[in-house]
Amino acid sequence: MKPVAFKPVVVIVGRPNVGKSTLFNRLTRSRDALVADLPGLTRDRHYGEGRVGDHPFIVVDTGGFEPVAKEGIMAQMAKQTVQAMVEADVVIFLTDGRIGLTGHDREIGERLRKSSRKVVLAINKAEGISHATAAAEFYALGLGEPLPISAAHGDGVTELIEIALEGMVEPLPEPEEWDGYSPIVAPSEDEFVPIDPLSHRVKLAIVGRPNVGKSTLVNTLLGEERVIAFDQPGTTRDAIEIDFERGGRSYTLIDTAGLRKRGKVFEAIEKFSVIKTLQAVEASNVVLLMLDASAEISDQDAHIAGFVLETGRALVVGVNKWDSIDSEKRDEIKRELERKLRFLSFAKVHHISALKNSGINPLLKSVLDAHAAAFAKLSTPKLTRELQEALEQQQPPRRGIFRPKMRYAHQGGQNPPLIVIHGNGLDDIPDSYRRYLESRFRETFKLQGTPLRIEFRTSD
Ligand code: GDP
Ligand code: GDP
Repeated sequence: MKPVAFKPVVVIVGRPNVGKSTLFNRLTRSRDALVADLPGLTRDRHYGEGRVGDHPFIVVDTGGFEPVAKEGIMAQMAKQTVQAMVEADVVIFLTDGRIGLTGHDREIGERLRKSSRKVVLAINKAEGISHATAAAEFYALGLGEPLPISAAHGDGVTELIEIALEGMVEPLPEPEEWDGYSPIVAPSEDEFVPIDPLSHRVKLAIVGRPNVGKSTLVNTLLGEERVIAFDQPGTTRDAIEIDFERGGRSYTLIDTAGLRKRGKVFEAIEKFSVIKTLQAVEASNVVLLMLDASAEISDQDAHIAGFVLETGRALVVGVNKWDSIDSEKRDEIKRELERKLRFLSFAKVHHISALKNSGINPLLKSVLDAHAAAFAKLSTPKLTRELQEALEQQQPPRRGIFRPKMRYAHQGGQNPPLIVIHGNGLDDIPDSYRRYLESRFRETFKLQGTPLRIEFRTSD
């Protein structure tokens, strides 16, 4: 076991409409075009990677977790928001300088003052207002110097993030491989370094809501002799990695809350943690999403799946406790799962029993396949040939009198693979045609288990 540094986590909290998602988008400069094309999933992004200088950090917009408050914002605040606040390295508390200090701001402020987190108080929508005026009444929150910003215009945002991360971003070593790379920002071509998947360790994060059987699976994988992992309460930036070998291949398990819960120290804490989950997903290169066959798929399952999709990680789904399902019910449950997991259609689904150690080897085979697919090297000639064959069978639809012209394709990134298609008039290729190309590439290059991104570039 070795601790590794996680990226610092910045959590944005504040009542609805103060500008949290505007700030989130500015900090992550999200390139939605790249993550938006997963059919069947409405994307409400609330987790992304930002960067200050060379230092990456994770941003969480808690607006994504919150039910719309009816009364008493703290009463309504989703448990996960409160927990995210507790586990953050730093909390940005966002308020609205045009509306001024409200009762709900005071309630949130109260809560934050009681937590031991570092809090930076930012007054948003402060463009065109004098800083002294914007900030004045917010001193009453007792959270230090209020910092006027404009999330919409970008004023003060760099200063805000520098203050937030002060002392937290040490110089990070240059990444030697692509593991730490977050695909939320599109890789530029010169960043693309091909690696050999076979000599590359599979970094596996096992995620899922409490009680789906994560710890049981870890025990099955590692054997009973494994050492229990401890970390220090309150630090979110240390992860535990556990190496194991199976079938001649090397894996590293990235711990999540589930791995740790048998440690006495942790019995008391909330079993499920959004932040631990997303950090583990970030640090992994393949994710195993575990579901419980004996229970309905819940919002929490969908939420976790959403995180995984946002990171673009390779994914395998393990439907656990299959032993507890009567054989006559199995088909019905399979169909139901298939319907609900349509938005994860690139991932292979396995029905397993962690407890009875059944179905585990085929599951790991899919983990390896997904890993190989995520890091596949796709040569330009082969990609271009496949593109041409696809075009021969089905042309993209005309736009007016012009037909979009696709000339060649090359690989623009890995983990997940990004295929860049060059040509003319490619600005409005319909989703259905994109999906057609995607399924062609998937099949030809055996890309099951990884998201696949296609970008169209028009040259003049
Ligand atoms: P959230 O509910 O906290 O995520 O808030 P949103 O990011 O959705 O923003 C709420 C509204 O405030 C939107 O209409 C934004 O355009 C607007 N807004 C966000 N930031 C600023 C800002 O810096 N200045 C002004 N004037 N409006 C802003
Ligand atoms: P975690 O919270 O995801 O780590 O879940 P645990 O590994 O603690 O498992 C929760 C409960 O489900 C325990 O009572 C396990 O014995 C049970 N369980 C785990 N895997 C299986 C399985 O494959 N079949 C059955 N029937 N029960 C299981």
